Amino acid sequence: MDRLKLFKELSEVPGVPGYEDEVRKVIRGFAPLGTKIVEDKLGSIILEKKGSSDSPKIMFPAHMDEIGFMVRNVDKNGFIRFLPLGGWWDQVIVSQRVVVQSKKGPLLGVVGSKPPHLMPAEERDKMVKKKDMYIDIGATSKEDAMEMGVSIGDSITPYSPFTTLNKDHLFLGKAWDDRLGCCLFLELMEELKDQPHPNTIYGAGTVQEEVGLRGAYTSVRVVNPDVAIVLEVAIAGDTPGIKEEECQVAMGKGPSLLVYDARMIPNLKLKNLVVETAAKENIPLQLDAMDGGATDGGIIHLHEKGVPTVVLGVPTRYIHGHQGFFNLSDYEHALKLIKALTMKLDKETVDSLTK
Ligand SMILES: [Zn+2]
Repeated sequence: MDRLKLFKELSEVPGVPGYEDEVRKVIRGFAPLGTKIVEDKLGSIILEKKGSSDSPKIMFPAHMDEIGFMVRNVDKNGFIRFLPLGGWWDQVIVSQRVVVQSKKGPLLGVVGSKPPHLMPAEERDKMVKKKDMYIDIGATSKEDAMEMGVSIGDSITPYSPFTTLNKDHLFLGKAWDDRLGCCLFLELMEELKDQPHPNTIYGAGTVQEEVGLRGAYTSVRVVNPDVAIVLEVAIAGDTPGIKEEECQVAMGKGPSLLVYDARMIPNLKLKNLVVETAAKENIPLQLDAMDGGATDGGIIHLHEKGVPTVVLGVPTRYIHGHQGFFNLSDYEHALKLIKALTMKLDKETVDSLTK
């Protein structure tokens, strides 16, 4: 698999919650030959790779959607007001370039706000709120914007071309949360294409995670897994202004294993299996806790009578913004870890997780 192409295409493809069509197409394009592909009725895509046994079923969920916006209305002067889709911090939005996905094609725009020159001193120190921002696509009137192709409800994505940093081992782009998880299950399935493994694995690109884990509800019913390993990004805390007690995860020190988030406490035996496997395979692993926020695991582990679930993350800087980056070695270690876990998760091992 051409990894650079995989990163670039999955980072740049637009896909805010509810608008994951293009992402699904890219994933289909990278699915190894012969992979069985099904979809749930909300739009999640599920790739199945049978090993030497139908069960246990191991699900690797990763959400396809990215945070973005939606056109709420266009004012008489042609400025677009927008709704956020997913968790945006107001400060990172203003002055950024965005792309309105209109029916006549993509339209580049910039998020505008009142210039500081026109603000009284006390206003200048305050954060500009989303509701006071607008998107300027260069239209001169509402009619002009409509003529350009804009409609209420069009999706809007960050503009952020994929690029590399520092001797090509850091990858800068948008939407790593959680296209990086999609890259991981695609590469895993490619690597296991001709290899035996004692289970059946499912790479699941879920929809609408950023607006409330919605595709997790529907995709887990299609797979009906015995174990789930959620593939995510982790917030890298190795930047100025973050205290160790707030976040200890650093880039370049391996994938993270979540011991806690707002919606899930992992199955402890599965958690231990991850720790032991990483140690045995010489894979660096960082333990992480996140008190605000959740992943698809929050829903998946509650399916039916319960599903042993863990969340693995590739440390990434500046997620939920226009551009984040991660370190290739963390990604490679995450891939090695999920491969080793797939080899270990036979029926006996999976049965023992809930005994
Ligand atoms: Zn995510």
